[in-house]
Amino acid sequence: MWSVHRGIASVKNPLYPIELLCYDVHPIGAFGLEVGMKVHVVHRPTQNLFTRPSGFIKAFDYTLNPFSGCAFGCSYCYAAFFAPSDELQESWGEWVRVKENALELLRKKRARPLIDKSIYMSSVTDPYQPIEKQLELTRSLLIELLEYHQARLVIQTRSLLVTRDIDLLRQFKYVRVNMTVTTDDDEVRRAFEPLCPSNQRRLDAVKQLTDAGISACITMTPLLPVRDPLAFAQQVKDSGATRFVVQHFHENNRRFVAGTGQAALDLCRERNWTEATYRVVVKQMRTVLPVLYEGQPGFAPVWE
Ligand code: SF4
Repeated sequence: MWSVHRGIASVKNPLYPIELLCYDVHPIGAFGLEVGMKVHVVHRPTQNLFTRPSGFIKAFDYTLNPFSGCAFGCSYCYAAFFAPSDELQESWGEWVRVKENALELLRKKRARPLIDKSIYMSSVTDPYQPIEKQLELTRSLLIELLEYHQARLVIQTRSLLVTRDIDLLRQFKYVRVNMTVTTDDDEVRRAFEPLCPSNQRRLDAVKQLTDAGISACITMTPLLPVRDPLAFAQQVKDSGATRFVVQHFHENNRRFVAGTGQAALDLCRERNWTEATYRVVVKQMRTVLPVLYEGQPGFAPVWE
């Protein structure tokens, strides 16, 4: 059954039997995508806009996730393990839930502003989902944070759409954009994260941010097989980012580290990408990037 919902065709889906869904469809070329993207989008209220972080990001006061689910569907995504059902875990990358009352919940915080609180946006989704282009939900949260809170904000993304909000980001006193960049090899990127924009496009987006005076960090988390470690390190450095973080896949404790779907582990094995080869590559990269954080120290809040 098709109907029109927020200007987008919508359909009932067995995963969400009582709700209207819309398909968020993006063709090749949109957002730097090299394959078309079709995602079920459902709008739902939430009670949990902010959560207390743990794991690598436990130094933050809060995480802020405007969505759950993620259209980028990376094969190694740990966030998939937080999906509310086995079906949704299995179909990770095919659905996004919009927290439709997110702005309303944030507005309620005006009475006790989040001044100087450190916020990590986002921990179990990307705050710049393709549907964000129409919705402007993340943008509305940024405006609210800017006008009423002046929190210390870290945005974690791999989306080119973050550059849309340069006008807002440059007004924050404390903000950093963490851009995930995983490899210099586009064949590798297509294998592990085919729905994501190319890493070069992400680095170009970082350059736009840093040229606008916005602090940026490159999070190579996880680091995927790299073709030329020295050239890659130089490319990353040339983006204008001032902070760099690297992390290998971990097979254990997988909920809180970079990792680890079975498909991604298989791809690593096919490419002989092991802890040892990762170590060799990181050692080479450190000759260009002497301060290359690993793990939790890399995911620090913004203090200056
Ligand atoms: S962009 Fe982040 S949250 Fe989304 S699938 Fe990839 S790793 Fe997971």
